[in-house]
Amino acid sequence: MQTKQELIRYWKSSGIIKDKLVLKAFAEVKREQFVLKEYKGQAYSDIALPIIEGQTISQPSTVMIMTQALEAKKGNKILEIGAGSGYQAALLGRIVGSKGRIYTTEIIHKLVEFAKENLRCKEYGNVQIIETDGSLGLGRFAPYDGIIVTAACPSVPEELISQLKVGGILVIPVGDLYMQNILKIRKISSKETTTENLGSFMFVPLRGKRGWR
Ligand code: SAH
Repeated sequence: MQTKQELIRYWKSSGIIKDKLVLKAFAEVKREQFVLKEYKGQAYSDIALPIIEGQTISQPSTVMIMTQALEAKKGNKILEIGAGSGYQAALLGRIVGSKGRIYTTEIIHKLVEFAKENLRCKEYGNVQIIETDGSLGLGRFAPYDGIIVTAACPSVPEELISQLKVGGILVIPVGDLYMQNILKIRKISSKETTTENLGSFMFVPLRGKRGWR
């Protein structure tokens, strides 16, 4: 079993996570508040943990790699697809600060309630949870500085690219049901994007219009 400090030391010494804002957010947010009671003792093990409805809270290293890739800054407006426990949204909320805004979408009602409960304290007042199919993004608050998808996608929904600002970044796992590559897609103009592959991971499947049946 690892501790929070051990994880931070490992990320720093291996060079996996260099962004100070990202490391600070990890140090500030209590992951134990976002896992089920029976897993609180394992909150800082570098593993994914089951939440409810067959979903998972991603492994800390995966969360950190994705968070760093998003390059979020103070005051940014970020969209997340897949609120789950609300942990990823909480980290992003710390990073963008009181002038920023996190919109996180969740398709399963019980998880909307779970995330709301976990995010109820005042320090996460800049995080808003919306019960909807996020596979088409969330046009209502677009355009975004960054969009992060935390469920496995069969392909990149074009709606997500169009809801990004020019210069914005989409972080998204794309592949089949068993293995996905996390892609970092930067919108460099209204018509062009560049893509970097951050490696293979495994996520729970995206549902909804652009997801799997
Ligand atoms: N980011 C979460 C982990 C998410 S697991 C955390 O920090 O805990 C992926 C989540 O995506 C699940 O809760 C699942 O219900 C949700 N999901 C799947 N398809 C979705 C869709 N089309 N729109 C919104 N949420 C979706």
